[in-house]
Amino acid sequence: MDDARLQAILEQITADAFAEPDKGRVANYIPQLAAIDANQFAIAIARPGRPTLTAGNADTRFSIQSVSKVFTLALALGTLGDRLWERVGREPSGQAFDSMVLLEQEKGRPRNPFINAGAIVTTDAVLSGAEPREALASILRFVRDAAADEDIHINDTVAASEIATGHRNFALAHYLLSHGNLMHPADLTLGTYFHQCAIEMTCAQLAHAGLFLTGCENAPRLVSHSRIRRINALMMTCGHYDGSGDYAYRVGLPGKSGVGGGILTIVPGRASVAVWAPGLNRYGNSKLGTEAMQSLTDLTGWSVFGAAPD
Ligand code: GLN
Repeated sequence: MDDARLQAILEQITADAFAEPDKGRVANYIPQLAAIDANQFAIAIARPGRPTLTAGNADTRFSIQSVSKVFTLALALGTLGDRLWERVGREPSGQAFDSMVLLEQEKGRPRNPFINAGAIVTTDAVLSGAEPREALASILRFVRDAAADEDIHINDTVAASEIATGHRNFALAHYLLSHGNLMHPADLTLGTYFHQCAIEMTCAQLAHAGLFLTGCENAPRLVSHSRIRRINALMMTCGHYDGSGDYAYRVGLPGKSGVGGGILTIVPGRASVAVWAPGLNRYGNSKLGTEAMQSLTDLTGWSVFGAAPD
């Protein structure tokens, strides 16, 4: 498909998103996110060595929130390797992203690195032997290297807002501590975790940051090919929490969502796609973002399950 056709598809998807009356609901448990205008939408497609295509509010920065868990996982696997799996599982949870129930049942070993409990353990692993400031710097370094863009920053106000109100995450961290699956005090690990979630990017920047997971020849080589396949597998099975099966069915590509309304989706061997619409569906994933990705994959035929448009 040529770029003019792809650009026309992005424009159409964006027009449809702005016209859709049901935008979902913005996350309201983080005060800074509750204040975001739901009437915003952006999409960006990045491909190594080819122009990045964008539509909508593609230059507006948004809070990437749980999309950051992909970068922290890649970093943690780089330093710990497979030892990370002694502390975190690799199965879909079928539960909400901040669920306590599974952690209780499974004695403090989170189901996967993308639910909050699992991401808190992953961040704790990145923190080993480092000060929170240094761990955060290495997470931000990884994201900037991945995006080949130094103009990516953490919004301290969003992080502070979550430190003040993140009671469930504190409960999860204390529960992990009680099972010996947290190596640092809850406030240190969570301080790092909340700041990593508060990284802000535009859709174009996020799409660039995902290129290393496409495995394309000219993409930044930040992790090995075998690790790329594993991270994509986890994104496919666990990247949308209890909505992961629904996303796989509708979109057919590995993706990771965040409560800021962003979704990063990888088209292996081809492209990295970021979409942003702040209103969420009942799983806490971007409502219009998911719908837009479904339209994009229907129109392009991009999927890991077959590759032709109807
Ligand atoms: N910072 C958010 C939290 O921990 C991230 C959750 C998300 O994006 N799903 O609650």
